[in-house]
Amino acid sequence: MGLKKVVILGSTGSIGISTLKVIERFPDKFKVVGLTAYNNFKLLERQIKKFSPAYVAANAKGVAYLKGNVGGRRIRILNVEEDLEGLVALRSVDIVVIAMRGSAALRPFLSAVRAGKIVAPANKEALVIAGDILMKEAKRHKAMIIPVDSEQSAIFQCLEGRNRSELKKVLLTASGGALLNVPKSRFDRLSVGQILDHPRWKMGKKITVDSATLMNKGFEIIEAKVLFQLSMDQIQVVIHPEAIIHSMAEFKDGSIIAQLSITDMRLPIQYALTYPERLESGLKPTNFFEVGQFNFRKPDLKKFPSLALAIHVGHCGGTLPSVLNAADEIAVDAFLNKRIKFSDIFRIVEKIVCRHKVTTDSTLKKILEADRWARQETEGLIRERL
Ligand code: MG
Repeated sequence: MGLKKVVILGSTGSIGISTLKVIERFPDKFKVVGLTAYNNFKLLERQIKKFSPAYVAANAKGVAYLKGNVGGRRIRILNVEEDLEGLVALRSVDIVVIAMRGSAALRPFLSAVRAGKIVAPANKEALVIAGDILMKEAKRHKAMIIPVDSEQSAIFQCLEGRNRSELKKVLLTASGGALLNVPKSRFDRLSVGQILDHPRWKMGKKITVDSATLMNKGFEIIEAKVLFQLSMDQIQVVIHPEAIIHSMAEFKDGSIIAQLSITDMRLPIQYALTYPERLESGLKPTNFFEVGQFNFRKPDLKKFPSLALAIHVGHCGGTLPSVLNAADEIAVDAFLNKRIKFSDIFRIVEKIVCRHKVTTDSTLKKILEADRWARQETEGLIRERL
């Protein structure tokens, strides 16, 4: 295996930083050829100095900053809003890690699969809103999608080498988020800070709020459905607060295969990069005697109606997942900015989902239209309520 050339979209976020930590361990296996960020260009500058990529992208302000600070190097400085599709499709790129968040990842994701790359998505939005299109294009262009999200990576590993017709269902585990043991009556008095204090995973703000509502798990159901070509009935959510089992696959004969490890994103990231090889990670091993016991619970759909809503949306498909994603993004943002209460997130998202007229024959154009519509509609609804 020669040196694999990697582009990281969103290198300054938590997944991007972890990806660089993995790459640093294997200088003879990986070369960073591209790093992109939106506006954290101070950190981007440090990453450029350390990894010397040939390409870097940031927003307009970042481009100006980088030209002044790293411009002397042999580096092409690109605009993150315009140039990502071209960057990921370059001949000198083998692996594209999609660590940026939001639906802005959709176009570069599509471009990477059309160029037949190995794509390692940590981003959920693109797969949730346009998963069918991405999977179809990946197949057509012989691109390989190796998920980085811990649950999807676990399912990917559990299904490896198995005949799909032997699979009965997948068991998607969930740690339960910050509110697992908080009574619903207290939800509206919780501060943003309390919601952001996730017991198991340290992640970005948006995804931590989505973990608290279980909307994140809802997105993961939709993601698993497209990634592994499952029916909605083949996906069961299991609350597992210890978060050691990252997901499981149950086969026809009743046997269940699970993937277990400590909660550290470097593991699924490394697996996506080194697949099908397994290499030393240098991470702390799982200590069962420290963990002591495994617990499992059924998700409480009354307490966490966002999960029920996402399941409904997954069944409907078409443009509805796009609406769910956009409405949730706007509503969570409003919550983080203290414009609405925690429970309002669900109320608002549900209303927007109900208002949408679903188009089942969903082209990219219709999906993006639905996305725009939902953003405007949600913003309007939040303003009305204030
Ligand atoms: Mg996850």
